[in-house]
Amino acid sequence: MTALTLDGKYVAQLTERDLAKRVETLKSVSAGKTPILATILVGDDPASATYVRMKGNACRRVGMESMAVELPATIKTNDLLREIDSLNHNPDVHGILLQHPVPSHIDERAAFDMIALEKDVDGVTCLGFGRMSMGEPAYGCATPQGIMRLLAHYDIDLSGQHAVVVGRSPILGKPMAMMMLQENATVTICHSRTRDLEAHIARADVLVGAVGRPEFIRADWVKDGAVVVDAGYHPGGVGDVELGPLLARASAVTPVPGGVGPMTINTLIQQTVASGEKALLKD
Ligand code: NAP
Repeated sequence: MTALTLDGKYVAQLTERDLAKRVETLKSVSAGKTPILATILVGDDPASATYVRMKGNACRRVGMESMAVELPATIKTNDLLREIDSLNHNPDVHGILLQHPVPSHIDERAAFDMIALEKDVDGVTCLGFGRMSMGEPAYGCATPQGIMRLLAHYDIDLSGQHAVVVGRSPILGKPMAMMMLQENATVTICHSRTRDLEAHIARADVLVGAVGRPEFIRADWVKDGAVVVDAGYHPGGVGDVELGPLLARASAVTPVPGGVGPMTINTLIQQTVASGEKALLKD
């Protein structure tokens, strides 16, 4: 068996063409206005700065604008909350991205939850998570939502499948598990206290690696024919799963890079366009 490549880069490029048309249509009916994504970068972590730059570039590729808000690493939680609230009240801003992680003295959860639901295009608020989990409308958390879109593009049906998600972070593992549950998978969530992790992984029809450790999930733990989604990215172009041997045994795999990463950014942009459409077409 040769595993199908779940090509996130390709799906993202395909979607960008559609998004560019939607932005163009919006401009034509709203006196040239485009959706605007406000990106908030706190401090000067080079990796975070790169991610924010990539998100701004993705906005420009579809013809919309981004507003870069750069704040000092020393900012206090209350001052960050005030900045976010002013973006909530700015009618020109349709989506707000707070780049994770923020410096450790800041209450990141309070900052995420300050984002107004209708501008939470990165899907990081507790309210958005709760609504999504209950099957109510909300923007999905960008990385897991991007994974769901990628699986849907390749017609991978989760209904009745046993999905195993390794990782339970608020921005990845937990929303991933709830999204797969919504699609009628039977979901097991594993984490650092899980006993006999290998036995859980061995039962996965669909495996999501979201651990944050290079090639932590060994190929020989994964059963033949599984769908393998690797959310990790580490220097040297490796993910959280040892993918090499799985290319001949899995039914589908996400490449690293070029799988989950492009879908994350693409989902953020897609949700900002949707938010812009709601606001601008209402005027
Ligand atoms: P995180 O916040 O560090 O969470 C890691 C999770 O892995 C935690 O839930 C942790 O369990 C679990 N874990 C750690 N060691 C484990 C072990 N020995 N056995 C089982 N579980 C273990 O990381 P994250 O933000 O979710 O990111 C996960 C990965 O996805 C990283 O590689 C990151 O780079 C990548 N990522 C990619 C994108 C993208 O756009 N491509 C976006 C976000 C993240 P506990 O909860 O018990 O500590």
